[in-house]
Amino acid sequence: KPVLGIETSCDETGVALLRWEPAAPGRGLLSHALYSQIKLHADYGGVVPELASRDHVRKLLPLVREALAEAGLTPADLGGVAYTAGPGLVGALLVGASAARAMAWALGVPAIGVHHMEGHLLAPLLEEDPPEPPFVALLVSGGHSMLVEVQGIGRYRILGDTLDDAAGEAFDKTAKLMGLPYPGGPALAALAQQGRPGAFRFSRPMTDRPGLDFSFSGLKTQVLLAWQQSDQAEQTRADIARAFEEAIVDTLAIKCRRALQAAGAKRLVIAGGVGANKRLRAELAEAGEKEGFRVYFPRLAFCTDNGAMIALAGAIRLAAGQHQDESVQVFPRWDLETLPAV
Ligand code: ATP
Ligand code: MG
Ligand code: FE
Repeated sequence: KPVLGIETSCDETGVALLRWEPAAPGRGLLSHALYSQIKLHADYGGVVPELASRDHVRKLLPLVREALAEAGLTPADLGGVAYTAGPGLVGALLVGASAARAMAWALGVPAIGVHHMEGHLLAPLLEEDPPEPPFVALLVSGGHSMLVEVQGIGRYRILGDTLDDAAGEAFDKTAKLMGLPYPGGPALAALAQQGRPGAFRFSRPMTDRPGLDFSFSGLKTQVLLAWQQSDQAEQTRADIARAFEEAIVDTLAIKCRRALQAAGAKRLVIAGGVGANKRLRAELAEAGEKEGFRVYFPRLAFCTDNGAMIALAGAIRLAAGQHQDESVQVFPRWDLETLPAV
């Protein structure tokens, strides 16, 4: 029976319906619907938690209705409900968790709280020819930059993490200090395509020593100085954007190679919002071809937050008999390594 997936950890309300098909999970995806709050938060230059919660309350049930209609299903057809239980904004998480729990209780079906980053990590399984563990996952999103060794579902070892800004956060903050409108990451990436190669060059932080951790806050300062000392022309802004993007992408690619070596793996999964970055996708795909590893990405719409990845992670765990009891719990901070194996 189909599982309803609900994502409300930050500023997107995502809903999806998925029937669990172990051999080809993507074929079990019946429908998905997304509402982004970007416009709501744009005036503030960042996500306002209280506004985010209220908007999830407003949009969630209409989206569930929409996803059910698109799949030609009614609530009585559901076999379980999966919701993001963390990490994320506590008020936003509680909206999805309470709604999911209430629906599951009314329908007499199990509910399960999903780790948002496990959702991102498993999103590539929704594509044709999905990756089989063991693999290494690069999780690069608004709040995380991690390299994870994946031995199986729920068997995760964090090989590297960020010491300061996450990759997406670095994109967003750098865009902001060059005057690009919120949310800056995708805007900066678009601008970078007009940048000329070699006009600027920034460092590849922490690649000159061993280790798999990241640090991106120093890059931001380099960009700020370069921008302040420049003529601030439109072409210059694009040139700096390009050099910044190259620095981030190169740094991520170098650490991915090291992580594959450390884990003795031949498969690399890229997921999270920054996984939508074209230069990152191209550079890693090319490196894989040359160096003999295979790279797996989710489709662009499933790189950033969505309900499908939560439905998938939840369906896998529900199929294994895991579920949560009726005391609704959310975890604003939650260590991926503590998840139970399937
Ligand atoms: P987390 O998953 O860590 O809780 P989040 O859910 O806010 O954080 P996502 O929705 O996965 O993050 O991704 C959003 C991030 O991805 C933003 O920081 C955004 O700037 C970045 N991003 C989206 N598209 C691109 C792109 N094409 N190039 C670079 N960054 C991008
Ligand atoms: Mg978001
Ligand atoms: Fe996310």
